Amino acid sequence: MRVLVITAHADDLELAMGGTVKKMKDKGDIVDNVIMFDNGNRDEAIEKSTVSLGHKAIFFPRELYETDRPIIDANLVREFEDWLENNKVSATLKEYDLIVTHWKEDWHQDHRMCYDLVQSLKRNQPIGVMYMDTFPYNQKYTTFEANVWFDITVQMPAKLGAIEVFQDHIGKGWNERVKAYNFYRGSFIKTRFAEVFKLDTMIM
Ligand SMILES: [Zn+2]
Repeated sequence: MRVLVITAHADDLELAMGGTVKKMKDKGDIVDNVIMFDNGNRDEAIEKSTVSLGHKAIFFPRELYETDRPIIDANLVREFEDWLENNKVSATLKEYDLIVTHWKEDWHQDHRMCYDLVQSLKRNQPIGVMYMDTFPYNQKYTTFEANVWFDITVQMPAKLGAIEVFQDHIGKGWNERVKAYNFYRGSFIKTRFAEVFKLDTMIM
């Protein structure tokens, strides 16, 4: 399976779905992370995280948008599609089996921008999409139905390791909280740790 994860920031993938990415990579899937907004000098942390989880991470180029940060309009959508089409990541949009991005009720405006981008990309069917559960910005989700569950018990140490490399940027204490949250999610499916997603469209 070829998976494209579209996140707003470096560290979003690690915090929300680091275990799932590691699990996908371990069974031979390709996972590419496009980070839409470069909000700081995190290159070294990203490098370490990709070594630990096995995915590929690439920033959406700043020169492709004129505003301070990417804002969704027809222009940006086209720039994004062209950029993928020219194989600036590793595949064209249609070659991905699944796109994962933020959910629309997320508290962070940059995260919601990714949701909007993916809604526009979906006009090029067929395209499978699911949304990540972005702790702690998920606090007031009201319509996020967790219907895809990944048992990440085995992958939890790798996830925590990947989060730790961002410690200088996001502060300490995240590992403990994320661990507790994934433990809570795991308890529903009688496993130690789990990550959840909301499925939008599945193409078989
Ligand atoms: Zn973020």
